[in-house]
Amino acid sequence: KGIGFTSQRTRDRMIKRLIDQGIKNTQVLDALSYLPRHLFLDEALAHRAYEDTALPIGLGQTLSQPYIVARMTELLLEIEPKKVLEIGTGSGFQAAVLGCLVPEVWSVERLDPLLEKARHRIKNLALKNIKLHHADGNFGLEREAPFDAILVTAAPKEVPPSLFQQLAAGRRLIVPLGDEQQLLSVFDNQEGKMIQTDVAAVRFVPLLPGAQK
Ligand code: SAH
Repeated sequence: KGIGFTSQRTRDRMIKRLIDQGIKNTQVLDALSYLPRHLFLDEALAHRAYEDTALPIGLGQTLSQPYIVARMTELLLEIEPKKVLEIGTGSGFQAAVLGCLVPEVWSVERLDPLLEKARHRIKNLALKNIKLHHADGNFGLEREAPFDAILVTAAPKEVPPSLFQQLAAGRRLIVPLGDEQQLLSVFDNQEGKMIQTDVAAVRFVPLLPGAQK
């Protein structure tokens, strides 16, 4: 039925599109080709999983389009991180991509129902190097700091200070910054100074305060 039959061909098409859009890192392309993105969506939307678009995951949140996931992962891998923190687990898809490529992945989510679904998916895929945590990502994950890289997948107006503090020296923070208009920004911690590079205009849901049941 449907997705089971077509998925490899649809995935191949998605990979070709990512290459056309400029994604070069073959590890990233392999991970996106391997992972069943349709299992990170509710059944009614699964058939659209490999389209070039963001998709709703419930509670007003969205799974980013494949290109954005690929681009952010590519930027993160440039520094060859061993231990990564993601803020905004959502469906768990970005965490799963990271789990294929980085030895140790932590991800925090403020909405418990989304986190529980993500936990289930990641368990089924047997990605044992990913640890999920119910918490307000504005404060990072103090007890596991420092991280080699921090990837924020919801947009704050300004970078929460805790995230800078939990970034190891010489390491990288990737974050969409702003309100309606957002810029995907990369911060490199160089000798305690944060060097900012703006990468692209993007659209993420806002980073909100507080963890919720
Ligand atoms: N990376 C996700 C997409 C996430 S959408 C994926 O691959 O599916 C952004 C997510 O950030 C939402 O699930 C939202 O609930 C979460 N979020 C927003 N503010 C947060 C905060 N302060 N702490 C943790 N998660 C937050």
